Amino acid sequence: MSKHTRIQVALPVPLRETFDYLLGDEISQPPPTGARVRVPFAGRELIGVVLGHSDDGNLEPGKLKSLQAVLDRSPVIPSELISLIRWSANYYQCPLGEALQAALPTLLRQGDMPTYKADSSILPWQLTPEGQGLPDTALPRAPRQAELLKYLRDYGPQTWPHLKEVGFNRDALKKLHQRGLIEQSQSPKQAPSREQALALNPEQQVALDAITLDQFQTYLLEGTTGSGKTEIYLQAISRLFTRDSRAQALILVPEIGLAPQTIQRFQRRFGSAKVVALHSGLSDRERLNAWVRACDASAQIIIGTRSAIFTPLPHAGLIIVDEEHDASFKQQEGFRYCARDLACLRGKTLNIPVILGSATPALETLHNALRDRFTHLQLTRRASNHPPPRIQLVDSSDISAQQGLSEQSLSAINHHLKAGNQVLVFLNRRGYAPTLQCHDCGNQILCRHCDARLTLHHQPRHLHCHHCDWQQPVLSHCPICNSHRLVALGQGTERSEEFLTQYFPDTDIIRIDRDSTRTKNALSDKLERVHQGAPCILVGTQMIAKGHHFRNLTLAVILDVDSGLLSADFRGPERMGQLITQVAGRAGREQKPGEVILQSRNQNHPLLQLLVSGDYQAFSRALLTEREVTRMPPFSHLALIRADAPVADTAAQFLQVVRHFADAYTANLGAELLGPMPALMEKRGNRYRFLMQVKSDSRAAINQLCQLLVEYIGTLKTHRALRWSIDVDPQEM
Ligand code: ADP
Ligand code: ZN
Ligand code: ZN
Repeated sequence: MSKHTRIQVALPVPLRETFDYLLGDEISQPPPTGARVRVPFAGRELIGVVLGHSDDGNLEPGKLKSLQAVLDRSPVIPSELISLIRWSANYYQCPLGEALQAALPTLLRQGDMPTYKADSSILPWQLTPEGQGLPDTALPRAPRQAELLKYLRDYGPQTWPHLKEVGFNRDALKKLHQRGLIEQSQSPKQAPSREQALALNPEQQVALDAITLDQFQTYLLEGTTGSGKTEIYLQAISRLFTRDSRAQALILVPEIGLAPQTIQRFQRRFGSAKVVALHSGLSDRERLNAWVRACDASAQIIIGTRSAIFTPLPHAGLIIVDEEHDASFKQQEGFRYCARDLACLRGKTLNIPVILGSATPALETLHNALRDRFTHLQLTRRASNHPPPRIQLVDSSDISAQQGLSEQSLSAINHHLKAGNQVLVFLNRRGYAPTLQCHDCGNQILCRHCDARLTLHHQPRHLHCHHCDWQQPVLSHCPICNSHRLVALGQGTERSEEFLTQYFPDTDIIRIDRDSTRTKNALSDKLERVHQGAPCILVGTQMIAKGHHFRNLTLAVILDVDSGLLSADFRGPERMGQLITQVAGRAGREQKPGEVILQSRNQNHPLLQLLVSGDYQAFSRALLTEREVTRMPPFSHLALIRADAPVADTAAQFLQVVRHFADAYTANLGAELLGPMPALMEKRGNRYRFLMQVKSDSRAAINQLCQLLVEYIGTLKTHRALRWSIDVDPQEM
């Protein structure tokens, strides 16, 4: 290496190029690819990732700055991941430096060392021998300390966060520590208990045996809720460990699905020492610790949400994506990657199997399975052998808004409560009513910042925009005609709760939505009430659609299935079908048979008819045929260029210019353009939003055209207030 060695560095800046630095005099060894370096950049110091070195180049070495420091002697990002991120940055049109940053834990981005540091708050407090010898009555003048001492004696070692949660104060803890009665244990709480594998049913056995562990293959495990998919994941991992006792398995789960139950299930089977979780609820330190344990392979099961796809796995053996259809696998801003798709790519590079599991696979995944690109494994029965819930369609066209539930639904609810069971009333709309309308002139009260109606809330009473968060007092008069007859139209969860409370005065009504669970512990308290098992009516939004297992719940009533069915987004019906199937899966999970009621004003809609027959497979295949006819994904590929600005023309004209440039290439590349057109909600948070759609049968064509567009946009002098972005394989229109 010479003094002129150039180090190529990716920096966290919104620029598409990488930057060259000289080694500098103080640094003798060039840092390896994947190591972090500190460099001067535009008057600041930044931390970047080394992408390579070179010894030549056209630029005079004199013009280059030198590295300030090398942070890592060995790569923090292995080369396999650098390639994956490079590929993704190119595919999703994200600057490489930004993509690399998204893949690093926050503390590493800030320059911390990639080492495990036990966070002392996770070490449990326990009694010392002196503390153990002390009788309960020994501290009569320090009742708080006595209480804490007794708690630790009764319940065993506990972490400080736990003790705080159950109401102890730091002071009592400190005093006991000073008195030498308690001490902090040196190792985290470990649950060694192992649970036995279940004996698989024949369908499960066939599916498990079909999974080949020593090479890349993508499997779609399509199985109804409760059919035992998780059991297959567990046993596939067991087999993996039998083949290679050091192997690692990565399990991606939706944001909402990373319930403690999921982690515990893996811990019970494999012992807690092997399992780490990576999700947004962790502190930066906890995240880095989990990441380090994946890196040094002391953790063999890594369960995480979307960004966990970028975890280094030196002994990678298997990747699982649970609920693979879930929209949270696609990042919706910045680096707009899809973790499920990257999982398939990473599996291929590493030559290891990838299992995508779902009761309601994404149409893209299903399409790949049906044309044999993925191996299709199916589980058609519930593992418990209980029949699937009976689904019934009920006409809701003449129900009053005040009531919201049909007579049929009410009598079914009554029936299930009388039998000692629990009922779920599902409505994906929080607040009291979605619309406040003038009875005299028909005017609806809109948000002043968005093209959206304000939602009426009663607890507390106000009008709220669910799109920009604007809030205002409830009007007493119509601003157009001054009439004071303003009426609440439609149903939100608060209104359903109010009606049900009147109709079933002796029943516990438990509402679970974002508003009713804002305060700490509110959610767990409410869930606890449901888990106690007494008859109750649970009124909830999608917060409770997934993951929860309510033993005594036998009836699910879904109030409004029409909004999804008639949505302007081409994915609307697919999303609705997935949601209904998820919610239906909540009913009758144990011995008692389940029942599902769908209220709709479009009873004869053919798609609804398919869902009612309980045949999600027929439903999804009908949707695929529709997509084929309309040439929408997966029968074509899309990218969206979005732009927004405080003045509509700024955004629309920008896209017009981009369109004009793109028009010269579309014919050659085999791509089509649509737009610019206003977004489904044109004005939102005082910004006017437009988009242009790129469509093609070829991903390569989309990639080439987007590349050209991004370069071209880089040369434009755009208005300061304009924001634009590009979204490849968009999930939302
Ligand atoms: P899914 O992941 O498809 O929803 P799970 O794996 O969670 O399904 O299984 C649903 C329920 O059935 C769980 O309570 C699980 O313990 C049980 N189960 C799964 N497989 C079997 C089996 N082979 N025999 C008995 N019970 C099973
Ligand atoms: Zn009016
Ligand atoms: Zn608004």
